[in-house]
Formats: sequence, structure tokens, C-alpha cells
Amino acid sequence: MSGGHRAIDVFVAGVCEGEPGPGGWGAVLRYGKHRRELQGSELASTAPNRMLLTAAAAALGALTRPLPVRLYADRAILGRAAVESSRVVWVGTHDEPDGTRATELARDALREAVRKLEARCLHDLVTRQCWQCRPTSTTLPNRVKVTSGGLVFHLDEGCAALHGGWRKVERRGGLRSDLTTIPTADALAKGLGACESCCRGFKL
Ligand SMILES: [Zn+2]
Ligand SMILES: [Zn+2]
Repeated sequence: MSGGHRAIDVFVAGVCEGEPGPGGWGAVLRYGKHRRELQGSELASTAPNRMLLTAAAAALGALTRPLPVRLYADRAILGRAAVESSRVVWVGTHDEPDGTRATELARDALREAVRKLEARCLHDLVTRQCWQCRPTSTTLPNRVKVTSGGLVFHLDEGCAALHGGWRKVERRGGLRSDLTTIPTADALAKGLGACESCCRGFKL
């Protein structure tokens, strides 16, 4: 463990084919010499900003250390509030190789998504045109649920991980924290990642 000035650099990008249209996202996480790449796609119609939020949520959710985060994106969407109030420092647009790489990852994921949509479904139609086979949205909702002091946000009030955390607190004699609903962008600005238990359906 080294000094207090370490931070994790997170580069995120989101792209769509048309707007709305299928989307792809990419993220590069960098901490000292460690690098990790994440990517994903959304076959149903979405928007580039949604993909960017998804990338940020996935990246923050993948972090295992409670260190400050410097977040770089190709568009400013997380807002100014993040700069003052939280663990995530909004740095703004990126112009270095890891930012370019995040965009590449997003584009690759989108290409793969479009390939799937153009493929023939079992009804011998182009998948995106088949009423039965065309994908339905799995992008993050506009609002998510959080607890004070929690490191992740939840989509499901009955989440097993959430209730497990509460039980742990109560066993130690503590009080369970309230569950509140806040805008997804605010949750990300606070540095909260997606809960791996109840956000799994969202392909993070
Ligand atoms: Zn079909
Ligand atoms: Zn959860």
C-alpha cells in the first residue's frame, strides 16, 4: 500500500449506431502499473450518454480499493457536483492513449452488437426486424437505490447482497441504513458502482 496521493484513473467511452440505436461502451481502469479493460454492448435502442453511464457504472463497480477516482470521458455528463463532493474527481475529456483505447473498446462492442442484430433469427428474419427476437432494453434506469455509506447502487430492493450487508451490520449491533432512490448520474458521481448481485441483468 503506498501513499495518500494515489488515485485510480478511469477512462470511459460510449457510442451508438444512430440515436437511439444499439450501443457499445468501453472502459480502461489504470492504477499504477495495473490496467484493466472492460467493454459491453446494448442491443436494444439506447443513447451514447446511457452507454457512457453504463461504462462508468461498470468501471466503478469493478474497483476493489476505496481510492479516489479520476474519471475521464469523451463527453461531460456526470456534472460538476462530482468534483466537489465525492471520491470521484471529474477530469473531463481524455486525449491520451487509454482514452482512445476506451473508445476503441466501445466501438468494437458496438460492431459485435450490430453483427448480432443483422444475423438471421430462428424465424429467418433479420433479428432487429423480428418482432419476437428483437432485443428489449437493458440499459440502466434513470434512478437507482443507495444506502448511506454503501459502495454500490442497487436496482432491486430485495437484493441478496443488500440484505446480507444489512444483516452483517445488525449482527455487529449497528442499525441498518435507509435505502434512498437517487438519479443514476448522482450515484456514479458519488463513486458508487453497480451492485454485482442485482445489476447483473444489465450486463455490466
Ligand atoms: Zn425471430
Ligand atoms: Zn444489489
